Amino acid sequence: MKQWGLYCSRCSARLPFRYQDMKCECGGTLLVEYDLELVARTLTKESLKQRYSSMWRYRELLPVEDSASIVSLGEGWTPLLRMPKWENKLSLKRLWIKREEQNPTGSFKSRGFSVAVSLLKEAGVTKAAVPSNGNAAGALAAYAGRAGIQAFVFIPMDCPSLIVDECPLYGATTILVDGFIHDAAAIIEAGRDEQGWVNVGTLKEPGRVEGKKTMGLELAEQLGWTFPDVIIYPTGGGSGIIGMWKAFMELKSMGFIQGDMPRFVCVQEEGCQPIVDGVHPVSTATSDDSGDDLPLLDGKIIPNPTGMRVPNPPDLPLLLSIVQQSGGTAIAVSKKQIADAILSLGADGISSSPEGAATWAAMLVLSDTGWLRASDSVVLFNTSHAMKYAKLGTSAAIPIIRTYDDYMIYRSL
Ligand SMILES: *Cc1c(COP(=O)(O)O)cnc(C)c1O
Repeated sequence: MKQWGLYCSRCSARLPFRYQDMKCECGGTLLVEYDLELVARTLTKESLKQRYSSMWRYRELLPVEDSASIVSLGEGWTPLLRMPKWENKLSLKRLWIKREEQNPTGSFKSRGFSVAVSLLKEAGVTKAAVPSNGNAAGALAAYAGRAGIQAFVFIPMDCPSLIVDECPLYGATTILVDGFIHDAAAIIEAGRDEQGWVNVGTLKEPGRVEGKKTMGLELAEQLGWTFPDVIIYPTGGGSGIIGMWKAFMELKSMGFIQGDMPRFVCVQEEGCQPIVDGVHPVSTATSDDSGDDLPLLDGKIIPNPTGMRVPNPPDLPLLLSIVQQSGGTAIAVSKKQIADAILSLGADGISSSPEGAATWAAMLVLSDTGWLRASDSVVLFNTSHAMKYAKLGTSAAIPIIRTYDDYMIYRSL
């Protein structure tokens, strides 16, 4: 019998813990409920100072019973980097980037799958499947490999090819789907019973939200147990938003931190913007989403921000209520804005995925329009790095030489 249960985020019903099927009868999403008084006996600000640099430092707030079940590749406790040049330029009080690209699978999906796969291991599950725009597939593949669980990943065809190609290296059965992420999900649901797959898709099981919750716990701890004013997050299925919001609620009820929650800003891609449309029902955003890559002037190609490409988030009402209650907003950015942002971040030494760069693009717009104030401290999430999105064979614009003379000839062209 687990020492924690589940509660419904919509109707507050209480249920016993289970490791799959997180939908309440009322349609709401089920989340893990802890006995926070019990947790606070051992998880203290003081005890945290002695703990290791991993998201498992918050062990009491993660729903894995036996430490032997923990499947870890060294995830979490990522750097929170100040951006002083830009604080001046944009007149913001503080600006940080949470460097989630430094997780073991190159994206913050590591966090969710470390917990999800630990729960599967604890339950004795042998086969897990996920519909994924790429990074979730890579993370399931890696953690399942580590745990000795068979992974089956179903990925829409527009996913960057390096991300796809990495999955079989971890031993996962890897399938491309001619469709969207919900089409991939439908395939898994259709085969679930026959194949014996446990579906670890977004909000299908409790571990991924709990794992992503550690981003919020970490952020608060790294900021000396204070909240930033604004969090700007590239949102797809939204488990990160739900997780961080849950983290902040738990920290508040344990007395770790007081004050207002940060304003959550969800960033999406123009043309695939259900949260933006929900927050601003009369949105007039124009779309340049042709589904194709956007060629840049110098011959490089900025690929699609597929991590944010979720037309039907599994619990849109919950996301909208978090954004609205926090005083936040949602904003869509174009591929051109994302491409420019990748270069701005690159010029500051940061390799950013299109999704991570989208938060930068959104910040520029929110600063321009005055939504961000000079008193605001702002955190952006760089959820993955540029390398995973690189395309082989796009280096045609980069010269190849043998000697210094060649170099001078090239420079004179
Ligand atoms: C999955 C993903 C997102 C979206 O995160 P959610 O918490 O599912 O909304 C953003 N960026 C990248 C790189 C991702 O892989």
